[in-house]
This record gives sequence, structure tokens and C-alpha cells, in this order.
Amino acid sequence: MRQSQLFTKTIRKAPRDEKSINSRLLIKAGFINKLMAGAYSYLPLGFRVLKRIENIIREEMNGILGQEILLPALHPRSSWEVTRRWKEQIMFKLKTRGKKDYGLGWTHEEIITPLVKTFVQSYKDLPVYVYQIQDKFRDELRVKSGLLRGVEFIMKDLYSFHQDEKDLDRYYEKVKGAYSRIFKRCKIGRQTFLTLASGGSFSKYSHEFQTITPYGEDLIYLCKKCKLAVNKEIIKEQKYKCPKCKSKKLETKKTVEVGNIFKLKDRFSKAFNLKFKDRNGKEKMVLMGSYGIGLSRLLGAIVEVNHDKKGIIWSEETTPFQAHLICLKDSLKTRKTAEKLYQDLSKKGFDLLYDDRKDKSPGKKFADCDLIGIPIRLVVSEKTLKKNSIEVKKRREDKIKLIKITDLSKFLKKIV
Ligand code: ATP
Ligand code: MG
Repeated sequence: MRQSQLFTKTIRKAPRDEKSINSRLLIKAGFINKLMAGAYSYLPLGFRVLKRIENIIREEMNGILGQEILLPALHPRSSWEVTRRWKEQIMFKLKTRGKKDYGLGWTHEEIITPLVKTFVQSYKDLPVYVYQIQDKFRDELRVKSGLLRGVEFIMKDLYSFHQDEKDLDRYYEKVKGAYSRIFKRCKIGRQTFLTLASGGSFSKYSHEFQTITPYGEDLIYLCKKCKLAVNKEIIKEQKYKCPKCKSKKLETKKTVEVGNIFKLKDRFSKAFNLKFKDRNGKEKMVLMGSYGIGLSRLLGAIVEVNHDKKGIIWSEETTPFQAHLICLKDSLKTRKTAEKLYQDLSKKGFDLLYDDRKDKSPGKKFADCDLIGIPIRLVVSEKTLKKNSIEVKKRREDKIKLIKITDLSKFLKKIV
């Protein structure tokens, strides 16, 4: 894509009311735009990143046999009366012509459980794994951390349905693995900890995936001795001792919860009377698990973890473009070569952002390039052309390399 055609521009200063690193950088670089507190638009660059994250998640969900669906975001009050969750403050309720009939989905157990019930009668119909990627709405009290907490945000929610606890436990472990791979592929793996959390009233424990960032609103306790991570509730219950090795040497870290996995057991199947007949014809409750990842929050967390003073640093798997080709405006020959290079590489299937802007100084182009954060920078200038080369630099490194134009596509294939 030609940068001259991009309808957005980089912004010199982030809005004063944006305090978090993720929203400041993403707004400055032109990835997102704020509509109101907790609601952001995804602009071409941001939308591309979002789709790439979505793809990583989709691959990993399909890898554990999840079947993708899309449920309505608008729900009837009656579904939520069944579980007595209509009264929850977090739910946006819509007044329609005087009546309060609808609510906006903030999670989907109330919708998926009766849906699955229409197809599950026997043990032969189980297990079922379904997921969706969709907007959720939550009337959150405080929204001040950019994409980390929205009133409208994108979530992947997976639900699993099983005949017994053994099968639920087995799948729960599989989801754990898939989640770890997702966070690793998003390059927040080293900062993300599988954290023991309490399971509320349904089961003893659940797990949160917590990413260390200064703008996180959660706190985790890391055991210095055995490296176990636990959340606030658990550590209080355990009287500030590690539940595993009983050590008192704990480190606290500010974090954001990027994912959550939860054994719901029969909480929702009981409410909706979701039963199945086992091998012996005996009726039993279906057991459920639910597993969420906030995609918008994940995008924000990636930026919180991967940036420097100059801007964002995307990884190969999350970047909006594979490389950023910059043409310095010094001569006609430079421009012609850059133009040809852009067309040739695009034909070969490389997805490039091409800075063809004629009215921008080299300094502005380099600054924008660092701010946007595409992992590879390619520069064509009179100087590089004297050596029939172009200059290659990785966003994460300072090292600059000259590569012969004739070798460029081979070289790129190796590194993108
Ligand atoms: P938190 O404690 O941060 O409010 P939660 O326990 O309410 O999170 P879940 O209901 O488990 O979150 O939702 C699943 C996932 O959705 C979370 O792990 C998180 O990644 C994401 N998420 C939850 N609330 C928000 C929000 N307001 N904005 C963006 N993402 C969110
Ligand atoms: Mg919450």
C-alpha cells in the first residue's frame, strides 16, 4: 500500500487525556481513533493488526478442534432471567419504546447453552467445542487504560461441553497449551504468566493469563522460589504464602489479564437443563468450560510490552505490513527505482507499506517509520543506488545492511 494513499496520518502529540502507553502510541501512529472513553475505531493499520491477531487465535482454536460460530450480540431479557444475571450492573440494557427488553452481550453462556441443547441428547453428541470472535459490551466503571479496558471490545470466547470431569480436565489442559502458544506467537510470552485464580463458587481453581505491564490493573504474586504465579484472591486465602512451596518470598507485579480459562462444570447446564443420556441410558448433566481472550486487550498488551522511545515494535506475525519501503526524495532515478521495486515486490507477493510521499523530509519519514513499527525498513536513496543496493534495517536492531537490489527478494523471503 502506498503511504500517500493512506487516509490516516501520524499525529505529533497524543491527546492529553490518554495516559496509557498502548493508546498513546496507537493513536499517534494512526492505528486507532477514540470515539469516547472505552470505545475505539480501528483504522487501516490497526485493522490489519487486529486481523492478524484474529488469525493466530483462529489457527490455535481450530487446532484444538474448536468450531467457529457467530452468535447475536443483542439478547432478549428472558435468556438472562434464567440465570438471574439480568440484574448485573455490567450489562447494557436497552429501552425500546418504553420497555426494557434487550441487553447487549457481555459474555455468551446464556446464549450458547440453550443453543447446544438443541443438538445434544446423547453421550454420542459430546464433546462439543465452539468459539466465536465478536464484540462484547460491558458497562465498566473505569475505562482509562486504552485498549486494555473498553466498554465495547473484541473477545474470543470458547465454550466446551463434556460428559464427565475427566474429559473436561483433559480439554482444559489443551486450551492451556493453545493459549500459551497464542501469547508466545504474539510476542508477549515472556511477560505472560499462567496464574492461579480462584474458581468462584463452581470449582476450586481457574487460571488467568496475566501480562506484566505498568498500566495493568491487576496484581500477581510470583513465588521467587518455585516460580508459581497466583492472583490477589488466592494469596489472601493462603495468608501470603506460596500455595505450592509455602515460601514467603513473593514478588508482586502489575499485570493485565489477557486470557481466562474456567471450569463452569454444571452451573449453566443446570440452569438450562442441558442433560445427556450416558452409555447406560442414564440422564446426566453436561459439564462445561469457558475460555476467553480479549483481542483488543491483547493488541494493547502487545504494544505495552513491545515498544521503545521512538514507537511500536511489531513482530513478524502481528505487523500490519511485512516491510516498510521508504523512498528518499533526492532524485528522479531514486524515485523510479523505488517505484519499480515496490511493484516488483508486490507482484512477488510481498505486502509492503511504501512511503512514496513527495512532500516529507527524510527525518519525518524515518520518524514515522519507527513510530509505526513495521519490523523491516527498506530505504532507497541516491547513496544506496550508487552501490546498486538498498539499505535494510530491522526495527529491533541498530545495525544497517546494504543489499544488492537483485538479491533483495531472495533476502526478504528469508527474513519476513
Ligand atoms: P477483568 O478482571 O480485567 O475485568 P474479567 O475477569 O472481567 O476481566 P472475563 O469476563 O474473563 O474478564 O473476559 C475474558 C477476557 O476478555 C479477559 O481475559 C480479557 O482479556 C478480556 N476483557 C474482559 N473485560 C474487558 C474489557 N473491559 N476490555 C477489554 N478486554 C476485556
Ligand atoms: Mg471484568
